[in-house]
Amino acid sequence: MNGLSSRKLHFILVPLIAQGHMIPMVDLARLLAERGTRVSLITTPVNAARIKTIVNRVEESGLPIDFVELQFPCTEAGLPEGCENMDLLPSEDYLRTFFEAMHLLREPLARYLHAQRPRPTCMITDMCNPWTADLARELRMPRLIFHGPSCFSLTCFALMQQHGIYDRITDDFEPILVPEMPQPFEVTKAIAPGFFNVPGWEKIRSGIQEAESTADGVVMNTFDDLEHSYIELYKKVTGKKVWTIGPLSLYNKDLDDKAARGNNSAIDRHRVMDWLESRKPKSVLYVSFGSIAQTRPCQLIEIGCGLEASNQPFIWVIKDVERTPEVDKWLSEGFEERVSTRGLVITGWAPQVVILSHPAIGGFMTHCGWNSILEAMSAGMPMITWPFFGDQFLNEKLLVDVLGIGVAVGVKVPFHYVPKDSPPAAKRDDIQKAVSRLMDEGEEGEERRKRAKELAGKAVRAMEEGGSSFENIALMIQYALEHGNDDPEEEEHNV
Ligand code: UDP
Repeated sequence: MNGLSSRKLHFILVPLIAQGHMIPMVDLARLLAERGTRVSLITTPVNAARIKTIVNRVEESGLPIDFVELQFPCTEAGLPEGCENMDLLPSEDYLRTFFEAMHLLREPLARYLHAQRPRPTCMITDMCNPWTADLARELRMPRLIFHGPSCFSLTCFALMQQHGIYDRITDDFEPILVPEMPQPFEVTKAIAPGFFNVPGWEKIRSGIQEAESTADGVVMNTFDDLEHSYIELYKKVTGKKVWTIGPLSLYNKDLDDKAARGNNSAIDRHRVMDWLESRKPKSVLYVSFGSIAQTRPCQLIEIGCGLEASNQPFIWVIKDVERTPEVDKWLSEGFEERVSTRGLVITGWAPQVVILSHPAIGGFMTHCGWNSILEAMSAGMPMITWPFFGDQFLNEKLLVDVLGIGVAVGVKVPFHYVPKDSPPAAKRDDIQKAVSRLMDEGEEGEERRKRAKELAGKAVRAMEEGGSSFENIALMIQYALEHGNDDPEEEEHNV
């Protein structure tokens, strides 16, 4: 072991600036700081402003975290001014520019890191930030990759890559049996695309793969009791050390912490709480599709009609960008009035974990983003699965076929395969049927709820003292202690 002590241990956390990546990293920063290490979380001015409440709470509590604001040169990169987070991009056409722009953080980050005395010890960097690899090398820091997605999807992608499936199969809809998975498991390239496996993204993809292959280990937001066999398989396939340390959302114990995650809420949390207090336990369906997936106007209207037909109380989150004149007109032409006694529509950012952890919520209609799934699972919630793209279709399989806590709405194809002017992917009848199946008080619904509750217990135990994720965080800190930068000359400089 080298001469470091946990007091001197300094983690550098470099998230991708997208909500689904930043939110768990902010949780991780607080968790590591609480376990006695110093943390620098790299962010940008717009993102720091969005989590100002958390920054203030950290300051008040004295946790040793620096929120380091690096300038993100939007206009230089070809992005509209202020687009410092993926959910602020005006359209998906800017996505590649956004990823390329992330590299512009390299120089300011290098200046920050080189100015630190003592030198930082260990870097935890998002999979999507391969430009951090040579920086970590330069500073002789171990570099751990933070993986946001489920281990199930990561393992599936890794196996398909290793068995040459992405190169060999040309038809995106050809059924493929994923080799080596613990159970026979059929996918298509469309629903299991791997990361950035699209024309024009070759350089980004190979950079990410290269940086992952040279990383010292992998940190995952999941827990052993949930994905044990996939975690073991992932280790075997990639040869990597893995620390599973989730669900990170469970770090947030009190309501103020839960309400401050990610962004300023569009609705006062007391108003949401009052609304929920007036509902029966487990009677309300929460509907939200994360931070990035955008729902077309005709599909939104169909969702509204399905919710209305279901007769179920609901909270429905619609993003600002989705409130087109067509949607506004439809909402105001009777819908809001007809459902006013049992429906709450939130436009903009919702305090998701506050809502999901309220006893009145009985189900969640989700786009199957991994954070949303873990947050709902930690609250013992069964889910209606409505994947849009990326790893989300695999997460649906995990929920529906493996864990038995999901009801599929029936969307079969990622949204980008569907022409923009085609009819909605799920009709009001599909939605109504999925809602009544999920909220059903009969045997099937009860069994699903029972399984969901058991998983919530396991999730909570993983994060408690003695639980697997709690212990893995200690092991990860120990790894950083043993392998972190320990330059005696630098120590002398610091005397
Ligand atoms: N989220 C939120 N309020 C919203 C929308 C999203 O708090 O109105 C949070 C949600 O709780 C989760 C994250 O944003 O932590 C979204 O991550 P996820 O992996 O579920 O989906 P993504 O947005 O990356 O597709």
